[in-house]
Amino acid sequence: MVIVMQKHTSEENIERVVAELIHRGFDVHRSTGSDQTVLGVVGNIDTIDTREFELFEGVQEAVRVSEPYKLSSRTWRRENTVINARGVKIGGGDTVVMMAGPCTIESENQLFETARRVARAGAKVLRGGAYKPRTSPYAFQGMGIEGLKLLRAAGDEFNLATVSEVMEISQIEKMLEYVDILQVGARNMQNYNLLTVLGQVRKPILLKRGMSATIQEWLLASEYIMSGGNYEIILCERGIRTFETYTRNTLDISAIPVIQKLSHLPVIADPSHAVGRRDKVMPLARAIVAAGADGLLVEVHHDPDKALCDGPQSLYPDQFARLMDELHIIVPAVGRTI
Ligand code: PEP
Ligand code: MN
Repeated sequence: MVIVMQKHTSEENIERVVAELIHRGFDVHRSTGSDQTVLGVVGNIDTIDTREFELFEGVQEAVRVSEPYKLSSRTWRRENTVINARGVKIGGGDTVVMMAGPCTIESENQLFETARRVARAGAKVLRGGAYKPRTSPYAFQGMGIEGLKLLRAAGDEFNLATVSEVMEISQIEKMLEYVDILQVGARNMQNYNLLTVLGQVRKPILLKRGMSATIQEWLLASEYIMSGGNYEIILCERGIRTFETYTRNTLDISAIPVIQKLSHLPVIADPSHAVGRRDKVMPLARAIVAAGADGLLVEVHHDPDKALCDGPQSLYPDQFARLMDELHIIVPAVGRTI
């Protein structure tokens, strides 16, 4: 249920309703808009008569949310959520944020060289995995904490926020020291224990879409995090499994406008893991931005032919710079800045 307060109602009226809800054992999630407050009420609301709450002073209406995801839906928060990661604003509909970097952190030279090039081209967030969910147990599994230290150092050197994947609960605390955005990978989108603990964290989460997840399952995954009180989630479309085998996955471009209708959360897309081939990353990136995404997550490697992970889909730094030039033409055409 959400309780929509009247515009500009007093703080006292809001608090009276909140207190009653807490007294009855519900969790209350408050969304304070520019002129209106909406209270998200979760718990067992089946037996509640919503009209009871409409009698409280300052309440405009109390409505049941028909979607299974509540706090992720626009019913609870009407305005776009804008996330702040070390000063980089993501979401809100005005800007497109570029996140770029290698699949995996391999060495100081690799990371710094790549970071230098993507920063110069206009990226705002540096990506790099330290814990890698590899399909094969024999593949390089990542540098772990040493990799995170390099990521922080490169981020500081080139004034970039950082994003890296968290694979399990035990990694979270250490990662918070080094990383500005925690990524949940496609393979972990339905790791509900991990999502629940990330709900307690007060740092943005980049939640990738599971490779066979419906949009509703994806939003329910975000709900696990939101219901813990962490409202800073960036949804990332990264391609889904279909019958097509030519590309690694199939980019679901329609997910971008669909999410923007259903949810207030920022939505970005990752063309690299969607298509899996370097020569197709740029056209997909152009399409993603034209479709209205809030950002792009792109794999770039200073020397992709020697990459330990995902080399064939990683852009050369020159290609990334060229992509940025192209996006400087496309982005203003859809009413945004980059
Ligand atoms: C990644 O971003 O490196 C990654 C493993 O992505 P995904 O979870 O989308 O496969
Ligand atoms: Mn990768």
